Amino acid sequence: MNKTTFTPFEKKVWLSSPTMHGPELAYVTEAYETNWMSTVGANINEVERITCEKVGCGYAVALSAGTAALHMAVKLAGVRPGDKVFCSDMTFDATVNPVVYEGGVPVFIDTEYDTWNMDPVALEKAFDLYPEVKVVVVAHLYGTPGKIDEIKAVCKKHHATLIEDAAESLGASYKGKQTGSFGDYNIISFNGNKIITGSAGGMLLTDEEEAAKKVRKWSTQAREDAPWYQHEELGYNYRMSNVIAGVVRGQYQFLEEHIAQKKAIYERYKNGLKDLPVEMNPMNLVDSEPNYWLSCMIIDPAAMCKQVRGEQEVLFVPEEGKSCPTEILELLAKNNAEGRPIWKPMHMQPIYRMHGFVTREGNGRAKTNAYISGGTKGADGNPLDVGMDIFHRGLCLPSDNKMTREQQDRIIEMVKSCFS
Ligand SMILES: *Cc1c(COP(=O)(O)O)cnc(C)c1O
Repeated sequence: MNKTTFTPFEKKVWLSSPTMHGPELAYVTEAYETNWMSTVGANINEVERITCEKVGCGYAVALSAGTAALHMAVKLAGVRPGDKVFCSDMTFDATVNPVVYEGGVPVFIDTEYDTWNMDPVALEKAFDLYPEVKVVVVAHLYGTPGKIDEIKAVCKKHHATLIEDAAESLGASYKGKQTGSFGDYNIISFNGNKIITGSAGGMLLTDEEEAAKKVRKWSTQAREDAPWYQHEELGYNYRMSNVIAGVVRGQYQFLEEHIAQKKAIYERYKNGLKDLPVEMNPMNLVDSEPNYWLSCMIIDPAAMCKQVRGEQEVLFVPEEGKSCPTEILELLAKNNAEGRPIWKPMHMQPIYRMHGFVTREGNGRAKTNAYISGGTKGADGNPLDVGMDIFHRGLCLPSDNKMTREQQDRIIEMVKSCFS
């Protein structure tokens, strides 16, 4: 079989790296020169104001990370030790870990193919199985909004609090409304690889004034209004620094530009890969306008060569006319380009393997953890759940804003060569 060799990129092509423009430095310098080098200052006030305006939420509290914001959201939702919480399954582990910080027990809800997010049908099923559950955490993966209306309706019917993890989807909208404005308590992230960044940072978003006040207090060590350090509640050091906020403030004006660049990257991949037995991740949807954060692809079942993923190792058997995520990711890495596997579903992570997992068909457990078939069946011949199927056949392509058209063309040629 003809698997072409390529000349590696001289400069690494990243999956998604920070893209600075200039105003970031001006706001950081202003913080420095006016000595607002702490967790108070104009940059913090401004980024909170801009976020409320952009996302359309009543209150925004700037914090040190999206994960910290999720922790605060889980606290606001009143999760107590032992409480089960329904969570997205195919996501970054930061979506679910904060549930555990509060002693909660994540129960994972399978994914649907239309948006690669939480399946509202499986969520409804989960309430049949665990009617006592009061909190749902949903993520919008790779910048594509999930079926949020349906998820909200299920939550409402069962009187559950909704937490929206919009860390990857800032700027994306669903039926004209921005993600991060649908849940009771929502979060965004300014981590280095997100659509805009502060180098780090995150925010809690809500329409409840009381909730925002609590998070302002908890995130600054929970001091009472007394002449000394008086404490009635557990505090945290989670507030955003005014220096970080300066970077975020400078980045905000480029959010739409970044989205346009990511969209162009997505469309070029879509066009470049159209003759291959692959599909792109779902971005062209009727109800929503994604932010195109990461371009991903999924290989048709019939075009998958054999691929076995164990706990930490992977093997594949090259085959003419077929490929698999491992073969493509290895070729990209060899040529100095960064791709990434799809988020491995939480119900298959050793740390969460004993937790509940609900599919459309009802209570599903992982059938096996080694998937050797070419198609969508596991090693035991049973069909995979949706999350494991996407993990098995999908991957994230280099999606950096600064990638040139020429670099992207070469990446497309590399992917094509895997199917030769
Ligand atoms: C990045 C990310 C987070 C965490 O954000 P940090 O700011 O890195 O703590 C949470 N959830 C998802 C889905 C993410 O991609």
